[in-house]
Formats: sequence, C-alpha cells, structure tokens
Amino acid sequence: MKQFASIMLGLACICNAQATDYFISPNETARLATILNDGTLKPGDNVILRDGTYNNLGTLRFSASGTECDSIGLRAEHPGKAIISGPLNMMISGKYQHIDGLLFHKAWAAGTHLIDFKDGETRASHCRFTNCAIDDCNDPNKPEKPSPEKNTTEYWVNLYGDNIRVDHCYFANKRVGGLVMQMWLTENDHLNNHQIDHNLFGNRPPFGGNGAEIIRIGHSWSSQLESRSVVENNVFLHCDGENEIISVKSCHNILRGNLFYEARGGLVCRHGHYNVMESNTFVGNNLRGTLGIRLINQGHTVYNNHCYRTNGFGLLVRMGVFERPDANTDIKKEPLTSYHRSENINIAKNAFVDCGIIDLGSGRGTKEPRNVRMTDNYFANSTNNIKITNPELTLAGFEFIDNRYNWGDNSEHRLSGFIQVEAEDFAAQEKSRVMDGVKNIGPSWYEPNMNDLQYISKNYK
Ligand code: CA
Repeated sequence: MKQFASIMLGLACICNAQATDYFISPNETARLATILNDGTLKPGDNVILRDGTYNNLGTLRFSASGTECDSIGLRAEHPGKAIISGPLNMMISGKYQHIDGLLFHKAWAAGTHLIDFKDGETRASHCRFTNCAIDDCNDPNKPEKPSPEKNTTEYWVNLYGDNIRVDHCYFANKRVGGLVMQMWLTENDHLNNHQIDHNLFGNRPPFGGNGAEIIRIGHSWSSQLESRSVVENNVFLHCDGENEIISVKSCHNILRGNLFYEARGGLVCRHGHYNVMESNTFVGNNLRGTLGIRLINQGHTVYNNHCYRTNGFGLLVRMGVFERPDANTDIKKEPLTSYHRSENINIAKNAFVDCGIIDLGSGRGTKEPRNVRMTDNYFANSTNNIKITNPELTLAGFEFIDNRYNWGDNSEHRLSGFIQVEAEDFAAQEKSRVMDGVKNIGPSWYEPNMNDLQYISKNYK
C-alpha cells in the first residue's frame, strides 16, 4: 500500500525511498513517547500502532517535520484497533504530520487539553488528523454540569498554527464542559486556513451552561483577527450542549454544506466579520432548542441555507449594543465581549420552512441592524412568523427584494419586497440535501458513526 502511495506521489515529487515503519505495541508506551520526540523520524516514516489499548500516555509530544511529499505518520496498523485511553495531553508540533485511524476511547485531558496542535510556542503546520474517533472522553474527576467550585474545562482538539485539516473523524459523547474543537488565534498566530470537513459530531448532552459549544473559531478577545478557516460538509447530530453549536468569533471564515440534524443549538456569528454561511441545512424536527442562523456584526454573506422545522429561530439578526470596534477603539469603552451592530449583510436564496420564528432586530441594545439586504428568500409557515422588533426603527435597516412567503392561514404580509406564493414543495430538496449530507462522513470502521448516519438517513428512504 505504501509502495503504491509512493509511486502515485512520485509523479508529483521525489519521495524518501528509505522511509521506515516503526511498529509499536501497547506494552511499549515509553518507546512510543521517545520515538515521537527524539528526532528519529524522517520524512516518509510511520509510527504504526499495533492492535490493543495504549493506556495512561500522559504527556505525549509528537515533534517531527515531514515534507509536502513525505508526511510523517502516526497510524493504527488496523484503523480503530489501536485504542488510546486514560489521561493524555498530546502535543503535535512540526510540519506534515498525519495522524490516522486512532480510536480515543475513555481517554481524558491530562490538564485541560486532550490534543494540542502546538508544543509550547512551537505550532503545527500542514498537519492532518484523519479517520480517527474521539468517543466518551471525559475526565472522571470533572463535573458534567457547571460548577462554581470545580474546573469543568476539557477541550478535545485545539488547533493552533496553520493549515491543519481535520477530516473523516467521529466526535461524540462529550459531557464535561469545554469545546470539542477550539481554534486559537493570537496576533502572531492567525490566518489559519484550517480545514474541518466530513466529520460527524455526534451526541453531546445538554451541559446546563455556557462553554459547551462544538466548534469555536477564535475568542472574543481575538475576534477582530482573520482565521480564514473552512468548516464544510460535516454532520452535527444531537449536539445539545448549549445554544451555540458553532460559534464564530473571528473574521473571513467559510461555513458551508454542513448538516445540523436534531441539534439543539445554532450556527452563530457571535464575533468577527465577513463570514460566509452557505448551503447549510438545518433539520430541527420541531425539537425544543433547535435553531438556525444567528447573526451579529458585519459583512456576512448568508446564502442558500435551508432551515426545516426548527423549534426556535430559523434566522435571527440581532440588535447591537456597540458599533464595530476598530483600530482606534478603546477596548474598555467598546467591550469585545458585547454585541456589535449588524451591518452590511447579504441574506439571499435561503429557505425557512416551518421554523419557530424569523427574528429581525430583537435583543438588548440601541444599534439597530443597518444595510441588511434580504433577497429571494422563501418563508413558509402555518402563520406569519416574521417578527420585527421596533419596526419603526428596525425596518429602515433592511432592504427586502423579491422574497416569497406562504402562510398556511392565508394571512397577509404587508411588507414591501415580499410576495405571497403557493406553497413550494421542499420535501425533495430536503431529502437530497440530507442524503448528500451523510455521504462519506466520519470513519467507516466505527460502528457508532455508521449507526448515527443510518439514524438520519432512515427517515428519507
Ligand atoms: Ca456559548
């Protein structure tokens, strides 16, 4: 297999013909820790984990530098048969390192982070975490509900550096507080270009407080920086930790083609600007807490998303408390943690079918949305569910063009820019979006992954 891969890659670049495979058994954890960090590994080398459980690895430094043609691998000999458990803080630093086929089961963070794509100040670059599963990894000493006395923070995957791809993985059954995936930005470490695709984010029970998002891109304090990360073609199933499933807190990210299925939360542009939300599908099945897209801040594009049967909002464009912060802004006067005016937003060609509410302009603050253009969207519901807070103030900030609506009770909607139409049939579109959405997701060797995909697709046969 390796030979074949080398031949294929050989067409594009010269590979290291002397590459070595180092086989490690579960009783050789000390040797594993050494070989990943002592400079042994050269481009093209692989550390291959034999079947079995690797317990209590603690601090595990994977520091190595591959090349674009010759990555350095940490792989399971048989995907899913090398199981990592017990306390772990895996720190990946270097370039072109591939982690493939590992099952993290009943492992937990030694400290607060399970996996870091950096070691000290050395960050990872062009690495790939693929075909892995992280399932039921919860520190038994940390509470699974918010606690004023105890540290409840446990972050699974922490992305630093640049060009990290996380793909075809399965993440589920996180119960302790903290994120499944956090992208960390600082002044000296942003423009990440991370790529998160074809993963299944599965069951995450309600935490009971903030800090249980699935993915967060940045923080409020780093939210004016550009991450330029892409989160696309992932599935979020029963991600019920809190009301934000993906919390975008940075600029110039793309969130595209994701499927949110019966997930009690929303896709939220919480901080940062110029983010694109495109072709995402939300299927709420009227479950309490299911949401669509929440917008605040500026320059976003919201295009071709479909939102079906969310119990809460399908779309929320929120009132702001402050103006957009800029280089001259005194952070103390314009707290970065607050809400900045929604402005210069395009919302086009989306469909909102049987959502709880379409909420324009609600929330605390006095900075009403400005220059929000809504074009060619479709709204259907049993009755008019478009709620405009303080319309005399709010409506001036919206431009409505060629939107269509169908209310089951035939009530009229008097806003200009909306036309009443016959109910449009979205069942076929929902089916094709969902069935496309579950294709080629997660590690095919992991039964819970396949069961979750089956749970979704069975309703569309
Ligand atoms: Ca939150």
